[in-house]
Amino acid sequence: MSLNGPRQSSMYGYRNRPRKTLEKHVVEKVVDDLLAKSCVVPHSTMHKKVDNALFDIFENVTNEVKVHVKKPNIESKHVRSKSERHVVKNVWIRKDTSKCHVAQYALHANSSYSWYLDSGCGRNMTGNKEFFKNLVLKDGGWVTFGDGTKKQVLGKGTICIPGLPKLRNTLYVDGLQANLISITHLCRIFKEVSFNKDVCTIIDKKGNVVLRVKRSIDNCYCLKIDPLTCNMTHECNKLDLWHQRLGHMNFKDLKKLEKHGIVRGLPNLGKKLEVVCEPCQLSKQTKVSHKENSYIATKRPLELVHMDLMGPIQTESINGKKYIFVCVDDFSRFTWVYFLRNKTEAFDYFKKFCNQVQNEKGLGIKKICRIRSDHETEFENAKFSEFCDGLGISHEFSAPRTPQQNGVIERKNRVLQEMARVMLNSKKVPRNLWAEAVNTACYVSNRVFKRPDTKQTSYELWKAKKHNVSYFHTFGSKCYILNDRDHLGKFDAKSDVGLFLEY
Ligand SMILES: [Zn+2]
Repeated sequence: MSLNGPRQSSMYGYRNRPRKTLEKHVVEKVVDDLLAKSCVVPHSTMHKKVDNALFDIFENVTNEVKVHVKKPNIESKHVRSKSERHVVKNVWIRKDTSKCHVAQYALHANSSYSWYLDSGCGRNMTGNKEFFKNLVLKDGGWVTFGDGTKKQVLGKGTICIPGLPKLRNTLYVDGLQANLISITHLCRIFKEVSFNKDVCTIIDKKGNVVLRVKRSIDNCYCLKIDPLTCNMTHECNKLDLWHQRLGHMNFKDLKKLEKHGIVRGLPNLGKKLEVVCEPCQLSKQTKVSHKENSYIATKRPLELVHMDLMGPIQTESINGKKYIFVCVDDFSRFTWVYFLRNKTEAFDYFKKFCNQVQNEKGLGIKKICRIRSDHETEFENAKFSEFCDGLGISHEFSAPRTPQQNGVIERKNRVLQEMARVMLNSKKVPRNLWAEAVNTACYVSNRVFKRPDTKQTSYELWKAKKHNVSYFHTFGSKCYILNDRDHLGKFDAKSDVGLFLEY
């Protein structure tokens, strides 16, 4: 911060690190103190941790305005604690100074997952390529920092990570250690950005709090994003995190889930917030939720089961599967998915399904009464009808080329496909893991989507108990797998890095 107005360059920091911008009156008080006492910058008015580098800056900057700065003898009594990297010093300054720049270093500015709110920079900046959702590499000129060093701008793009507002036009700056969020940028997209001594609050146009950023111990307003565990504390993050964990469930349904206590283990998600999820925007064709078929004609599980076969999928799954066989129980809307190499396997999987569910529900008590499918040959064949006749299951067919008649299953297929697509795209998971994505989508949707017209999830209707979602993880997120199988050398890594794919 400077007292004599902004510098020519709109973006500057000190030595790649964000500066703490002091309020004008604080700076004035420091200067007043400097002038009045003619010698010592008191610790109380300066920051507690004035470090060597700050001293140098002071020297550089104050030299510009012809102020003599002398390094005092550094005595250990000024060093507050040995653990502090930054040595506390007195700064001596001559009396006839009139202007002064004050800079403050952030202690942890080199942590590349910290985002600093900075009023000194006109654009958002980062030196970490991985943060970008879409990065256009081009020569964007240079950024000049406060100490005169220049860094090259290598590109520009949008940053969209959970816990942060969407940051468009962020500069990718070569070698920049810290991540800076421009206050000017925030002011442009939100209604209000206000600071007090503890917290910076960002409020959107509807008056909702989008973000609260606490003042960190190094006196910066800093947002720490934990890249691995996503242990986020902000309301906005929590909502976003659970949105991801629950297979990018739409925010309205998510709030309903919380409000009505439909599942257990879901934390308080805070007030409704405007969160934009880029993967959702990119992957979901229709934003409006699919029309619900709220009329349920059945009275108990397994009275009617809908079936369908999806595929072939263009990319073979990692296990060489190409088709998805979907079964939906009409009453609970509980769904099962099986992955097939070819269509003819449908019958085997249907037999497997019948055994599985009838066993689960207790033989003889609740049996499948009716099944409904289309006229495809994989369902309409001699083996199928023989098997159904044997069990006393009546097989209904929807009229050809009118998928509306099979609405329940069609809708389910679309939901599963969309969820899987978002889950794959949002974490850039390889395409051939689509089966894992669909499986997780099915698992999640059974446990979090409520059946139309009720406040119960499919899981609850099927298993007669509420599900606890507290162990849910985001599909495709990094995880560490403890390596306890292989014989480990003394210095081998104890765990392998993996992707979380299935429950
Ligand atoms: Zn999403």
